[in-house]
Order: sequence, then C-alpha cells, then structure tokens
Amino acid sequence: MSTTKKSTKPRKASKGAADPALDADWEVAPTQALRVGPGFDLAAFDRRSTPGFAGDKASGQALVARHADELSELQERLFAEGRSGGSRSVLLVLQGMDTAGKGGIVRHVVGLVDPQGVAHRSFGVPTPEEREHDFLWRIRNALPRPGYIGVFDRSHYEDVLVARVDELVPPAVWEARYDEINRFEEEVVAAGTTIVKVALLVSYEEQRARLMERLERPDKFWKYNPNDVDSRRKWPAYQEAYQAVLDRTSTETAPWYAIPADRKWFARLAVSELLLDALRGLDLGWPPADFDVEAEKKRLAAT
Ligand code: ATP
Repeated sequence: MSTTKKSTKPRKASKGAADPALDADWEVAPTQALRVGPGFDLAAFDRRSTPGFAGDKASGQALVARHADELSELQERLFAEGRSGGSRSVLLVLQGMDTAGKGGIVRHVVGLVDPQGVAHRSFGVPTPEEREHDFLWRIRNALPRPGYIGVFDRSHYEDVLVARVDELVPPAVWEARYDEINRFEEEVVAAGTTIVKVALLVSYEEQRARLMERLERPDKFWKYNPNDVDSRRKWPAYQEAYQAVLDRTSTETAPWYAIPADRKWFARLAVSELLLDALRGLDLGWPPADFDVEAEKKRLAAT
C-alpha cells in the first residue's frame, strides 16, 4: 500500500518532448507486442525483429533518451516512497544466453537512474552455503527492499535452465520448480514488488559473432569465458529449456517479455519502455512532508 499522495504539480517536460512522433513509432504497445502468451514459439521467434516498433535505430535511441528523465524521476519517487514507509519496489529479471546483452541493459537502461536506488545482483554457480538451502533461498535474500529497483542478472530461472540442461538435479526436482517459482513470484508480487521478467533472445549466429569478437579484440578478452562455448554446444537443449520457462512461468502476475536481442538498440529500447511502464503503473506521487513546512520556513528564515 502506498502511503503517499499524488503530486498536483505537473511533471516537467523531459528531453525531446518536442517530438511526440517518436512515441508513435510504437504501433503496438511494448507490453503487448513483447508479452509471452499461450502458443509462444521460441523456434519461430525472429531475433532481429522489432515487434510493435516501426522506427529505426536512430528513432529507437532517441526515444530512450526522451524517456530517460521520466524514468529517472519515477525511480526517485519510488525511492522517496520507500523512505516514507511505502512497501513497493520493482524487480527486473534478466535472463538470456551468453552475449545476449544483459550487461548492456544494466549499463544503458538501468544506468539511466540514480544508482543509489538500484540493488543489482548477479547469480552465478551457487556457493557451498547457497547449496545448503532451497534454490529460492538466495533469491529471497536478494529481493529489493521497499523503494528500490532490484536487478537480477540471471536468477532463480537458472535452476530450471542450466540445472535442467546439465542434469544438475533429477528431472522430478526441476520439474517441480516451475510451480514453485510461480507460487514464489505470487508471494513477491503480493508483498508489493512489481516483477518485470525479460528474456533476451539472441540468435545462434549472432552469438557466434559476438563470441568471436571477444576473441579478436584484446579489450574484449576479459569478457570471454571458454565455458560459453560449452553452453553454446548445448544450444538446442537450452532453447527447449527456455521454451518450457516461457510456457510455464509467464503468468498474469509475472508475465515474461520476449526481447529480440540481435539488435542491441532494440533490446535496450524495449527494456527501458517495459521498466518505464512498470513505474508508471505504480502511479507514484511524492511523499507529503512529515513536518510543518511553514514552521520550518520560519525557523530557517530566523537563522
Ligand atoms: P555471465 O556469463 O552472466 O556474463 P560470468 O561468465 O561472469 O557471467 P558468473 O556470473 O560468475 O559468470 O556465473 C554465470 C554462470 O553461473 C552461468 O554459466 C550460469 O549458468 C551459472 N549459474 C547461475 N545460476 C546457477 C545455478 N543455480 N546452478 C548452476 N549454475 C548456475
């Protein structure tokens, strides 16, 4: 529940507001065009496409810039609400094969807001301590506190992706996890967190090109991990595991958005618009003063 009132002050115009035509480049709203619904077919999904968006790279980048101020202001309102006793937060879940661009989303989209209000967490191979607990234990511990935008770079979905593909647990165990995840996310949403789940879907060919670039450029060597080629060899098994995730965990409460990721500019635009939509949906105001404003003005003037 929000403890804040809506501001009566109009929001100041954001950069580029003079060109509303940019918004019109969305022929179908991103929340609709990208949402994973029944019958979603990953094998047929065009990873260079720009669903719902009629603009080009330049207009996509301009739209991200145009919405940056609003995104940043809404994040500040969320943070202020959290500081004033509110319980709401946003959680951005990023999933994707290696090179799909998770890091770029964090830099270019999440980077548009004040880092003080962001709680970023990446999930790698579980530590010995994490292994002693249920797979959701480390996830629960990393959930964003009120007022924060939490960002999960990989997530509990690894426990039905790599765990399934590499047979880290018996089938009966990963099989039961889809329902557990759905129940868990329902709880998280009921506690006040809006979950935005994005699957960054890069093509097999584009992944190869991106990995090759990491091997050809000394400034990219640090990003290369020989294990990435091992995962790539299991591409069909991963696609099958992703299809199952999208089929079984795209719920009303926490839907998945399928993001074609071969064009980095589009993936960044799409995720920034989805995040903006989530924040707009919270109808955030500014918390009222919990002190007497007039009395404080007098006290200050007297100094
Ligand atoms: P990235 O590949 O995301 O850029 P990275 O190469 O730096 O990251 P880490 O972040 O340390 O590596 O770990 C990512 C690896 O951890 C991935 O291979 C992923 O499959 C694996 N991983 C994540 N969660 C689990 C899990 N629950 N069980 C097993 N392996 C996991």
